[in-house]
Amino acid sequence: MSAPRAYRKDVSLVFGQVIIPVNITNAVIRDESLSNICCGDSNKPHDAAGIRNNPACPVCGNQDATTWRKGRKERDGSYVPVDVTEVKQLQEEAVAGTKDMLTIGWHPANDVLTKTAPGKGCYQLTPSKEGLRSFFDGVVDAIERHPELAFMTLWSPTTRSNQYQLTVQSGALVMVERVRAENLNLTPQPATSVGQSDRDMLDQFVIAPKVSAFDPTTYADSFKAKLEALIAARQSTPGAVLPSAPSAPAATVDLSSLLASLATSGATP
Ligand SMILES: [Zn+2]
Repeated sequence: MSAPRAYRKDVSLVFGQVIIPVNITNAVIRDESLSNICCGDSNKPHDAAGIRNNPACPVCGNQDATTWRKGRKERDGSYVPVDVTEVKQLQEEAVAGTKDMLTIGWHPANDVLTKTAPGKGCYQLTPSKEGLRSFFDGVVDAIERHPELAFMTLWSPTTRSNQYQLTVQSGALVMVERVRAENLNLTPQPATSVGQSDRDMLDQFVIAPKVSAFDPTTYADSFKAKLEALIAARQSTPGAVLPSAPSAPAATVDLSSLLASLATSGATP
């Protein structure tokens, strides 16, 4: 496994009075993807060639995508061809039973948290039959009463099965993706031992004096609030307000479409 390229270098880690520059690398391996390849036809076969973004085979010029195959690129740049229908078959077998069924297993929470990492997917589960809500609530209550356990399941939102942990957030049952250990790409670090006096110093002078209640606004995204304030200011600027009847309801701002237009116009937030 190659060492990951730093996503950002020399970011200051501010840990109380201790400031250490660190490099940030992506810890998750990208999903193994198959490329479109051409092997020529039965009359003129050739070594597997990657199509890439080129709409034609770089070897024989074949532009008929229906004759292309799939292949995994090897380290030496060659491709191992596989049949598209075989790959589809494998996918279907792998997700069987995990699209419309969530089978839950429970394990010591610490084992799970140290052997998996947070993923991107996050979903809420609600009962689809109101008559069964009391059973559902019993399950939610059990999960909430056992923080020492991690409640895990497999689910396939699309063509691959992901691993999820069920948690309770403000009374809602939430399914949070956890990345499998095999998909983590971590650079091995030299084994070091921290002396007891160093531990005591950190605990006594750094950790203990700075423990504070968790205030979510500390980690809030300030852009959204500032953008809303900016828009409100523009709306009150003469000439910038769209004409409207006096009795019209207050203008609302569609933040998501505004953000989308900012993104497409290339503006830096
Ligand atoms: Zn070709």
